[in-house]
Amino acid sequence: MPAKNGILYLEGLRAHPKDLWLEGEKVTDVTQHVAFSRSADSIASLYDMQYDSSVAEEMTFNLDDTNVLEGLSFITPTSKEHLIQRGKMMLHWARYSGGVLGRTPDYMNVILMACAAASEFFGPYRKNIENYFRYVMENDLTLTHTLVNVRKNKRYPSHAKGDELGLHLVESKDDGIVVEGARILATLAPLSDEILVFPSSVVPTDKDASKYALAFGIPCDTSGLKFICRESLDVGKSSFDHPLSSKFDEGDAIVIFDKVFVPWEKVFIFDDVETANTVFSNSKVGSHINQQIVTKNMAKAEFIFGLATLMTESLNTNETPYIQALASELITIYELSKACLEASISKSELNEWGVMEPDGAPLAAAKSSFTSAYPRMIEILQLIGSSSLIAVPTDADFDSDIGHYLDNYLSTDTLGAKERTKLFRMAWDISISSYGGRQVLYERFFSGDPHRTAALSFARYDKEQVKKIALQIINRV
Ligand SMILES: Cc1cc2nc3c(=O)[nH]c(=O)nc-3n(C[C@H](O)[C@H](O)[C@H](O)COP(=O)(O)OP(=O)(O)OC[C@H]3O[C@@H](n4cnc5c(N)ncnc54)[C@H](O)[C@@H]3O)c2cc1C
Repeated sequence: MPAKNGILYLEGLRAHPKDLWLEGEKVTDVTQHVAFSRSADSIASLYDMQYDSSVAEEMTFNLDDTNVLEGLSFITPTSKEHLIQRGKMMLHWARYSGGVLGRTPDYMNVILMACAAASEFFGPYRKNIENYFRYVMENDLTLTHTLVNVRKNKRYPSHAKGDELGLHLVESKDDGIVVEGARILATLAPLSDEILVFPSSVVPTDKDASKYALAFGIPCDTSGLKFICRESLDVGKSSFDHPLSSKFDEGDAIVIFDKVFVPWEKVFIFDDVETANTVFSNSKVGSHINQQIVTKNMAKAEFIFGLATLMTESLNTNETPYIQALASELITIYELSKACLEASISKSELNEWGVMEPDGAPLAAAKSSFTSAYPRMIEILQLIGSSSLIAVPTDADFDSDIGHYLDNYLSTDTLGAKERTKLFRMAWDISISSYGGRQVLYERFFSGDPHRTAALSFARYDKEQVKKIALQIINRV
């Protein structure tokens, strides 16, 4: 089947209702529910871009030289040109929401592509990962994923005695396995067709831990699988009042596996601690996923820099040196993301799996710096916007009897009152609202604890060259 459009996406969600819970209520149709429907429409619009004549050419590729066009994020890149094409596709999706949708479907598609390309690494489950990738690509399915086990006590691993809450094997049968436990989180779960379950960073090597060494992919409507969503940030307000949360709340859910059956053909890692602990590094997922992440970061930095500029112009503070200095920090973040993306492609190389892999170092640097750069960007919006971020009446205020006061008192030299309010409501939603708060938390943590990730990055970086140079200088002076 070719790449899907938005209608097919929404039909798929309706045809496969999952066991999804929101504030104590079971949600039977996310496409009609106030908490999810407008975000579902936004994801549908991404799929529609695959058929929008103004961009379609940059959104799909011709699989196996047939006439079947598949979504470009599924491409197995074998050349720099493929990476450039994939980057353009990623940017179209990222720009659609100004980067606030972190889990546009390309995020998961590239993870799966990299695993399938490295299928040999999965040993006896090699065919399973290859077939699953093909199945997801050919049906253009939307995936969520969950990596992190819940724990009673964070000092101990999730398999510690009395703390067996994390996802683990319960039974192995002729036709598959039964698993149980809970994981956090699954972003985009309400709006996804399938869930990919991979091992969280490290499964301990002792015997009891091997039942935690699992990976599989199953439909979100599999029996026993339950999603408990956080409160929705789309509270049904107009897009004037809540410009981002009314359209782009991708949702996050706790995932409960209540004796879930997984057929063998959907199992990718089983009872294998060594494979579980090295799957991400060996399959070379990192650089591919980081191309998506840094593209999203660049789109987000571009959006926020643009927003900040419009704010300064509307308030006529764009020539104030302090404000200019703040805004210039946004340029730095934006330009660094762009430069790192370009560097990663120009230094890309074919890896051991025959896949053209973007250079990981600049992407890792850009990704890592964004965990602290993003909160700073939000702080800059607050410093630039100040009380203007709070003096933001609603649509209803403008339409009411006191609307003429707002028209009179809220206009600026360059903007009418309603235009000004529209601009600052956007700035409010990204920097002040609950939606904005979740965005900051997401950027800090979505890809793991930034402190441990940074420590790992230092430990793994090839430091021989810099040590040599430092020693040469020390010995010369
Ligand atoms: C909005 C959002 C969306 C997410 N979406 C997904 C998703 O779709 N799929 C998914 O799999 N995961 C998702 N995650 C989860 C994410 O992977 C985890 O948040 C991340 O791995 C960090 O784990 P944790 O939340 O348990 O925090 P912890 O590991 O408990 O860390 C919390 C804090 O404690 C510190 N800390 C913890 N242990 C130590 C220690 N031993 N020594 C020193 N300091 C320590 C950390 O540095 C950090 O500051 C999401 C998270 C968020 C916030």
